[in-house]
Amino acid sequence: MKRGAERNPASAEGDWLIDKRCIDCGAARHVAPGLIVRRGEYSVFDRQPSTPEEMHQAWLAAELCPTRSIRTESHLRPPPRVYPHELAEGVHLCGHNHRSSFGAHSYLVVRPSGNLLFDSPQFTRKLVAPFEEMGGIGKILLSHRDDVADADKWARHFDAEVHIHRDDRSAAPYATHLIEGSSPAEATDLGDGVRAIPVPGHTKGSVVFQVDETYLFTGDSLTWSYERSAMRAFREACWYSWSAQKQSLIGLAEYTFARLFSGHGPWSPHREPQEMRKLLLELTERM
Ligand code: SF4
Repeated sequence: MKRGAERNPASAEGDWLIDKRCIDCGAARHVAPGLIVRRGEYSVFDRQPSTPEEMHQAWLAAELCPTRSIRTESHLRPPPRVYPHELAEGVHLCGHNHRSSFGAHSYLVVRPSGNLLFDSPQFTRKLVAPFEEMGGIGKILLSHRDDVADADKWARHFDAEVHIHRDDRSAAPYATHLIEGSSPAEATDLGDGVRAIPVPGHTKGSVVFQVDETYLFTGDSLTWSYERSAMRAFREACWYSWSAQKQSLIGLAEYTFARLFSGHGPWSPHREPQEMRKLLLELTERM
C-alpha cells in the first residue's frame, strides 16, 4: 500500500473511506457537504452514505479527488459518467481535479458557438468521450497560472484556443491568445457574451470571466461561503498583492453577475445581481 493510503480512522466506520493522502483541498466537501467534513487537516466521512443521493455525492467526491483518497473497502466500481455534472443550465462541473492545481475545480460551459472550458481538469478518457459528445472544446479560458493543469492536452485533443493573461503566460507557453489589461476597467470582449476581466491580486495575471452577465468564473480570486452566505477571498493564498486584489474586486463590482463558480471553493446559489454587488463590496470592506 502506498504511504498514507491506509484508512484515516477519523472517518466514519463502514465501506466508504478516505485515506491520509488527502491534501485538504476541500473539493470533496463542496460536492458532499455535511457527508464529508473537515477534521484536523483532512477530509473524512462524517457518516456513511445511506441514501441514493448520498451515494451519488460520495461518487462525485471519489471521481473528483486529486489524490484518489476516497474509495470503498469492497472495491465498488464507479457508475458510468459521474462527470460532467450539471450545476446550472449549460454549466458542468468537470471533476477529476488535478493535483498540480491543488485540486482546483474546472467547468465546461456548453455554447452553440463552441464550448468553453474554464481552467482544466485531468486529461482522462472518462471526460474525453463525454466532452466529444457535448461538442468538444472551442476555447480554454485560464483564470491564472496555478490552475492550468492539463490544459495543453485538452487544447491539443480538441484543437482549442487557449487564453491566459499576458502576466501569467509563462505557465501556459502554448496559449494562443494573451489577455491584456491591468484592472477590471480594461476588460476584453471575447465574443458570444464572454468577457475577460483582469483582477490582479491573487497572481499578477489573474482574470475572472463573465458569461452572459449572469455567471462569473473566478479562479482563485473570489469564492463563496455557504456557512456565512457571503463571498470570501484567500489572504493566506495571495501570491501577488492583497491590496491590489482588494482594488480589483472593488472594480469587479461594476460588472453584473448572479452566480459565481470558483476554483478553490464552492459555487454560489443564484442571487439577484444587486445582492451580489452588495456582497462583493462587503467583502472588500472586510479586506
Ligand atoms: S478532494 Fe481528496 S484531497 Fe481534496 S479534500 Fe477531499 S479527500 Fe482531500
